[in-house]
Amino acid sequence: MNVLIVFAHPDPRSLNASLRAVAVEELEAQGHSVEVTDLYAMGWKAEVDRADFPALDPDARLKVATASGDAVAADTLTEDVKAEQEKLLRAEVLILQFPLWWFTMPAILKGWVDRVYAYGFAYGVGEHSDHRWGDRYGEGMLAGKRAMLIVTTGGWEQHYSPRGINGPIDDLLFPINHGILHYPGYDVLPPFVTYRVDRLDEAGFEQAAERLRERMRTLDSTPPIPFRRQNGGDYLIPSLELRPDLGAAGSSSFKLHLQREG
Ligand code: FAD
Repeated sequence: MNVLIVFAHPDPRSLNASLRAVAVEELEAQGHSVEVTDLYAMGWKAEVDRADFPALDPDARLKVATASGDAVAADTLTEDVKAEQEKLLRAEVLILQFPLWWFTMPAILKGWVDRVYAYGFAYGVGEHSDHRWGDRYGEGMLAGKRAMLIVTTGGWEQHYSPRGINGPIDDLLFPINHGILHYPGYDVLPPFVTYRVDRLDEAGFEQAAERLRERMRTLDSTPPIPFRRQNGGDYLIPSLELRPDLGAAGSSSFKLHLQREG
């Protein structure tokens, strides 16, 4: 398989860089080909602004979604963005790797999503009607491919447990797994999370590395998170609320959006 790792850490000697090397080595040993987008190393421009739309009339207001859709249609997106979109189309598996910073991804990676996920590419795709709400949440340009996160945290595993002060890790990662990966179509694998890493010793590193090798060996057999499909009949259209007969009554948990609530 072709695997794309989008990597967001500023230091090539970091734990994250070491874990990335472990992942690449294991994937290549399994016969996969690996591309890496190293956002800091390539000086990725994180913010969306007028420079992203060179064909936009200089006097026109910048409406980002409209400008984005026009640029996709006219093939006038910038070369750096087009190159990342081509990598996404080539890859059968996308891995986003990052240290958890303020309970989410580093800004540079969010900026990669903001710029690469253009209108007509990752959103604004498919038929909008009274029985379909576009191709998204399991459908879309990237449907049929797999994606997963590799994340490190300073906090302990218990801090991210169901009753932990930080909130459950699956809830914190839901906007990424569901909103960024499942949205344009990916089947999303459970995340690989390494907790309490700031004073990790060599033995701890080797344990994490072995767990990661195992995940890389099982990329194509690991069952994805069973997110419900938007257009599969579970949601009312156009309100996009889960049907009243599905999910735990009175719950507003993210788990409502799983076919089998955990
Ligand atoms: P590094 O600092 O590079 O390394 C961590 C440890 O691994 C070091 O002690 C290093 O010696 C050791 N190590 C062992 N073996 C190896 C090896 N072979 N190669 C490299 N290193 C090795 N944490 C949270 O839980 N929640 C948050 O919201 C959060 N927000 C943050 C916000 C910011 C701005 C920052 C800077 C940190 C935040 N943290 C948070 C902590 C952060 O998640 C961790 O510091 C990060 O995950 C550590 O990953 P790293 O790659 O930077 O580790």
